[in-house]
Formats: sequence, C-alpha cells, structure tokens
Amino acid sequence: MAVRTMEELVSLCKKRGFVFQSSEIYGGLRGVYDLGPLGVELKKNIRNAWWRSLVYERDDIEGVECSHLSHRLVWKHSGHEDTFSDPLIECKTCHSRMRQDKMKDETKCDTCGSSDLTDPKKFLLMMKTNIGPVDDGSSFAYLRPETAQGSYLNFENVLLSMGRKLPFGIAQHGKSFRNEITPKNFLFRLREFEQAEMQFFVPPETDIEWWEKWKNIRHQWWLEQGIPAGKLRFKDHEQLAHYAKCATDIEYEFPWGFDEIEGIHDRQDFDLGSHTKSQEDFKINAKVLPNKDSTTRMSYRDPFTGKEFIPFVIETAAGLDRAMIALINEAYTEEKLPNGKTRTVLKLKKHLAPIKVAVVPLAKNNPDIMMTGMKVRRVLSELGIGRVVFENSNNIGKAYRRHDEIGTPICVTVDFDTLEKENHPVTVRDRDTMEQVSVNIADIGKYVKKFYSRETPQQDVERLYQFSKMKEKGRE
Ligand code: ATP
Repeated sequence: MAVRTMEELVSLCKKRGFVFQSSEIYGGLRGVYDLGPLGVELKKNIRNAWWRSLVYERDDIEGVECSHLSHRLVWKHSGHEDTFSDPLIECKTCHSRMRQDKMKDETKCDTCGSSDLTDPKKFLLMMKTNIGPVDDGSSFAYLRPETAQGSYLNFENVLLSMGRKLPFGIAQHGKSFRNEITPKNFLFRLREFEQAEMQFFVPPETDIEWWEKWKNIRHQWWLEQGIPAGKLRFKDHEQLAHYAKCATDIEYEFPWGFDEIEGIHDRQDFDLGSHTKSQEDFKINAKVLPNKDSTTRMSYRDPFTGKEFIPFVIETAAGLDRAMIALINEAYTEEKLPNGKTRTVLKLKKHLAPIKVAVVPLAKNNPDIMMTGMKVRRVLSELGIGRVVFENSNNIGKAYRRHDEIGTPICVTVDFDTLEKENHPVTVRDRDTMEQVSVNIADIGKYVKKFYSRETPQQDVERLYQFSKMKEKGRE
C-alpha cells in the first residue's frame, strides 16, 4: 500500500526526519530541500545500491566524480547554451509563470484560469555563478545541469588510465542544478537535485542492441529496490532531444500519476563528436556544432581492425530524489492487526533501511542490562552493515512501533533472560512478520551479518557471466 496523497507523503517525510524544507525559518527556498537524519541514510543506501550494481558487480564500468563547475565552452559544445531551455509563459492577470509543455491547458493560466497569457519565450535552465574576483558579467561558469558532460570529457582519461576497450561505461552520481520554472511535487522537480548517471560507450553499429539491454537492466534494478512491476512502465519519447536517436523513460506511478524516474537514451555519437577536434576526420552521425575549441579527439581505435571512430553512447540517467519519494511511497504500509489496531510499517528493502538494527535494553535502570545492550550495539556496529542505534526509550512497545514506522528491519532486545539464562539469549524481532526469535548473545553478530548478506549471489554470478559472453561476441 502506498500513501494516498502528496500531502501525506510530504508530512510523513518531515515527521519521520527524512526531508525538511530548506531555509524553512526564512520562508523556504522553492525547489530546494534538506535531508534529515533518516533521509541522508536512505539516499546513501539508494546511491550505494546503484553504484554496487553498476561499478562493483560488473567489470565493464568505472566510476568518476567530476566538478560541479566547468568551463563555459563545455556547455556551448554540449548544445546546452543553445537548447537547454523551457518555454516560459506568464499570466498577465496573476503573474504566475508556467512551463508551456507542462500546463494543464495551454490556453489558460494554471493558477487563475485567465486566457490573457504572454507568448512563450525561451528560458535558459542553467544556473550561472561568478568565478574569480572580478564580477563584470563575463567571468562566469555554469553549475552543471547534468553529470553526463563530466563523464564525456573524461572519456579519454578513463580509456587510457584504466586500459579499457569498448564497450565500457563511466558511472557518476552527484548534484545537478536546473533553474526549473515551476519546481513542484516535492522532491520531483527540484532546482538542486542528485543524479545517478551512467554513460556506456559502444561501437556504433551495436547501439540499439545495448539500448534495449540497458532498458531491461535498469528496469530490473528498480524492481530489486522494491517497486512492483505494475507501478513501472516504459514511455518512449515522442519528441527526441537534439542528441538522441531513441529514448525511453522508466516511469513510476507517483501519487499524481505516472512520471519519469529514469531516462535511457541512445545519444549516438553526439557527445563525443561535439567535444572532438578535427571533426571532419570522422563520419559523425549526429548534428554537432563545429568545434575549434577542443584540444583532443574523443575517438577510439579498434585494436582488431585499426579503424578509428567516435563511439556511440547509451546513457542511463536516474534521479535519486525522485527515487526517494518513489521508494518511501511504495514502502508505506498500514496493517490491520488481529486486535483491531492499525500498525504503520515502512517496508523498505533491508539494504535501503536507514537504520539497520535498533538495540533495545528492556530496563533502563538496570546497569547490567544497559551495559550488555551497549556491548551488543558495539558488536553490531562493527559489522559494517550501516547504522545501528541504541534505543534507550524504556518502553519496548513504543520502541518497536517507532522502528516499524521508520523501517528498521530488526530490533534486538536485551532483557533479564539475557542476564540470567544459560547462553544469555537476546530477542530478535522482525519488522515485517513481528516474529521474535531467541539468539545466544555470542551468535548475535553472525546472525545479523547473515540477515544482511546478499540474497542472490548465484544470480549475480550468472549475470556477470552473460555479460562477459556478450562482450566477447561484440568483439568478434
Ligand atoms: P523532466 O522531463 O522531468 O524535466 P528530464 O527528462 O529533463 O526530466 P533528464 O535530463 O533525463 O531529465 O535527467 C535524468 C533524471 O534526473 C530524471 O529522470 C530525473 O529522475 C532526474 N531529474 C531531472 N530533473 C530533475 C529535477 N528538476 N528535480 C529532480 N530530479 C530531476
């Protein structure tokens, strides 16, 4: 079960410490949010799951982290200076500003219904900032509106430093900035947000095959994060961006309907071609600006045929903030209990849960129980599974309820049995089933480690094997 309305989702996120409005005490800044103690953990876990699936579990993708600020010419040749704009319409009656392509009815103001509207004008989405001590309007840089360009600019660096051959990818996550005309739907349309993007470089004639493969891989990843298949769909772009040969969005059913969480784009040779010097030496498929500024060729020489060409790019571009609301929304569950009461549980997959274990000492005033609880907490926090907390509330029922609500998969309770019984058992209580099992204190580390170990190593191995076969086929 998901939340019913957007308002419910926003209030849940605030109340439980996931997301706060940025600069709230001064009235807030539209389209900008801060993450709270649980939000920062959840986002880190989503990011790690993404990174693990692309960089750690595969042998054909490298990670990079590029700067937020980059040379202005990057954005000239990427096409952003000319084309990265939205059509802005202003209502002459109430002065609301709207993005034409997102209006409910293009002839009427979304806010007041007036038909007295300005003509659409191009509004540049990139944000500028001043660089250096002189503020004369010419020494500025753009804050990146996507992470992708940094990965393209480092294509040759990664290729050479890591001794790579095609096909291979570059993954990068990080903040991007867009001066969105109408930030809305909470974390959905922000002015500052985090992207998780991967650029996969392939020989030109294999692009469609790889585009299809990446669609499936990324769809599968969303399923593994806990989104049911029925809440996801592919939507092919009707209007293609200037760089794209074909593009599809993975859409999730948000409380307001289906909307994009990730784009899978066949960007052909547009990006590497755009940043290449001596473009005339190549047959570049995409329409690129002439480039007299670049100092290098973003090309690849096939070691088998000796032919030099510009690789095509398949991009997978996800947003971590959109992922957060989708995953919280999906995990939110209200359950009727046999006693007629309702229990709220955040059924996040355990690898995404902000808190992995809460250690609950049953009697706050008993020093032996407290000390034992602290020892257990210490043992568990050494496991490297993520955040373990000592829940010193003195009310076990409340502690369980609170941890159900924030999605903690297990609570470990230390009580008088732990002190008095043979083998000193602690109680492990499961969030989803509410079942409780007794575990000897000496085994609790092993138990929890097993609980958090990956469920499907065999599938991972098979996936890796399939990819290595596919790559060999590509080289034949
Ligand atoms: P939209 O059509 O919604 O404006 P887009 O097609 O411009 O999105 P991309 O440029 O493909 O988005 O960016 C890749 C991903 O980055 C998107 O799928 C989304 O998850 C995320 N993203 C893009 N813009 C925003 C934003 N303003 N706020 C939050 N996330 C965003």
